[in-house]
Parts: sequence; C-alpha cells; structure tokens
Amino acid sequence: MKHPISYFAFALTILPLALSAADDARAMHERLITLDTHLDTPSSLRRPGWNIMDRHNLKDDFTQVDQPRMVEGGLDGGFWVIYTAQGPRTPAGHAAARDTALQIAVNIHKMLAANPAHFTLATTAADAATIAAAGKRIVYLSIENAYPIGHDLTLVRTFYDLGVRMLSPVHFANNDLADSATDTTGKQWNGLSPLGRDLIVECNRLGIILDASHASDDVFDQMITLSKTPIILSHSGSKAIYDHPRNIDDVRMKKLAAAGGVIQMNSLSAYLIPTPPNPERNKAMQGLMAKYGGRRNLSAEQTKEMAIERRAIEEKYPVPMATFDDFMKHVFHTLKVVGPDHVGFGADWDGGGGVTGMEDVASYHKITASLLAAGYNEADCAKMWSGNTLRLLRAAEAYAATAKVEADAAAVTATKD
Ligand SMILES: [Zn+2]
Repeated sequence: MKHPISYFAFALTILPLALSAADDARAMHERLITLDTHLDTPSSLRRPGWNIMDRHNLKDDFTQVDQPRMVEGGLDGGFWVIYTAQGPRTPAGHAAARDTALQIAVNIHKMLAANPAHFTLATTAADAATIAAAGKRIVYLSIENAYPIGHDLTLVRTFYDLGVRMLSPVHFANNDLADSATDTTGKQWNGLSPLGRDLIVECNRLGIILDASHASDDVFDQMITLSKTPIILSHSGSKAIYDHPRNIDDVRMKKLAAAGGVIQMNSLSAYLIPTPPNPERNKAMQGLMAKYGGRRNLSAEQTKEMAIERRAIEEKYPVPMATFDDFMKHVFHTLKVVGPDHVGFGADWDGGGGVTGMEDVASYHKITASLLAAGYNEADCAKMWSGNTLRLLRAAEAYAATAKVEADAAAVTATKD
C-alpha cells in the first residue's frame, strides 16, 4: 500500500505543471489575433446610459460584451452585427427595416467616434493586424438578415461604404431574398430568389463575404455554387452532434471546406443540446417582454428590475443549459470533419449565445486552453481565431479588385465604340 505522502509528493509535482500549462495557454491566446464573427453587441449600444467602456454583469443586464470583458477574455474584436428582425415584406416594412439598419450602423460609428483610443473600424483584412498591434479592439461590420435592402440592391453599396464586409440574406423567416432554415411555413424559393441571386453577384462585386448562417440548406448549396469567393457560416453548429435546422451536416461541412469556406462555432444552448418544449416558460417570457416592451429603451434601473423578474421565470420554469463541454463537442467534431483551416468562432454573444462555464466573453480564452489540451498547436489556433476569416476577406477583396478592373476596361471599350 502506498503511503499518503507519495500522493502529496505527486500532487506537488503535477500542480506546477498544470498551472504552467494554463499560463502557457493564456500567454498564447494573448499572442493571437482573436476575432468573433458574430457580435450582436450593437443591440446594447442603443440602451440609454449603457457604455461599452463600463464593465457590466450578465446577471444584471444580460449583456455579454464590453471593452473590459473583451480584455479579460482576450478578444481583439470581430464582426459587429447590424441585425434587423424580419418584418412585413411590404414597401413600408422594407423602408422601416432600412432605417433601423442605418440607425444601428450610425450607433456603431458613434461608439467608434466616442472611443478612438480603444476601438477602430476595420474594412480590409490587413486592418486587423494593424489595429491589434496598436492595442485597440477591431470593429468589422456585418449584416444579419438583408431584409433592410428591400428590393434596392444599390443599398448594398451604401452599407459597404458604411463598413459592412459580411452579409447574410435571411434570418428566422423567409424573405424576398432567400429561404430561412427555420421558417415554419417551409420553402418559398427552394433556395435563393432571383433577387437573392443578384445579391450574391453584388456582394462578390463589392468584396463582401457571404454568410449562410440562418439560411436553408438549399440556399447554402446555391451560395457555394454561385459565389465567386469562399463563403462563411458566421455562427452555426454541427448537425451530427445535435440535429437542429440551424446546424450543418457533415457532408455540407466538407463541401464548404472544399470550396475554401469556414464554419464559425455558435454557443447558443438551444442549438447545442436538446431543449424540451416549455410552453409555460415561453408564455411567462412573452408576458415579460410585453410588460417591458422589449429591452430597447429601458433605463439601467428598469433593466435591473426586468432582470430580476426574468431570473424568477428561469428558476420557476428551468430549461437544460448546454455546458462548455457541450460547446467543445461541436467544435471538436467539426475539427475532425474539416480540420483547423475551416473552423473558427462566432459564439452569438449578446444574441442568445453563452453556455454554463463560458457565460460571457470574459471567459472566451478557455477555448484556446481546451484546444491546446486536445493537441492543437499555436498555428492551428491562429487560423481558427482569425486567420481563416481573414483569408476569406482577402479573397473577397481580391475578387472585387479584379471585377473592378474588368468593369473599368469594359467601360473604356464602351466609350471607344
Ligand atoms: Zn443569428
């Protein structure tokens, strides 16, 4: 029988090793340029009195990203989302959505203007390294749901000029551009609409990365065929691990990788593990939303009151919550299928993401430690944390440059004729 002292001695030997592994992972994480491709944080910017430079708590106001927590979690930046909920597909609905999207873009630019020492707008792939080297946070812009474009494709250029470099055509419901993965009425276009196909051409022409998250599988397939440059899934998961319409099957993952694309792993619990229907909870949550009119214009005090009521509902009608290990299961499976050249992170912070053990962006660095422990090296992590996404942006830029040269040449020929 071994003497207890030998266990003690063993613990003394192994403890520093464990600590130094954690230190190494953290130091490596800090060396990397880290981008999340789906930050719904602009939804916080419209809250009265909410400041990106303050350190907030998830339990007080349900936010997951601010500058102090980005620093804590070692997140250099990402794609800040201009999200518009799907509304009526009418001229008035499209005009209202356009104005909402423009207002969100303005809010992001106001945040940038108010904090020049901490945040910088990025519009090219090369900008990421320059901004990170200056010790600032990187702000790319993206559009989730191109519904605000309505039928006016010239607006794509307007949003490009405002900084948008990634765009997804559709969200929870079908629209005039494409079918959604989650529309309960089923397919309308069997993929992209004719206008949606023109949208792909316009995004390629300008140098905008196409994003198939939320789109139906038909749209995904057609985007890969039609797009001149590799596409992204900015926040998605693995269907083999959990069968949900928002996740992607292994065959399509391989197709995405073969076309040079990337899947960025989502951390939204209901897409990671089964969540049984809970109508009582839904009803109580809807009542809460009705009472507070959404969270859009609430003061900090009202937000706190609402948070207390929301927590009470969550405790009364609990739902299973995915853990960090559940999230990593999706990551490791996807890595097994397509490898580190085609995987990244888009955790859906401030948009429903977050799991037990990685509740907000402050603990984002845990992913790097987990990858290192599983045998992935620094070069792999560098690709996953930004290299792959920036490769797609560089490809989009290169194609747009070629398209511009060809268009200019055609214009010269036309003038001569
Ligand atoms: Zn989303």
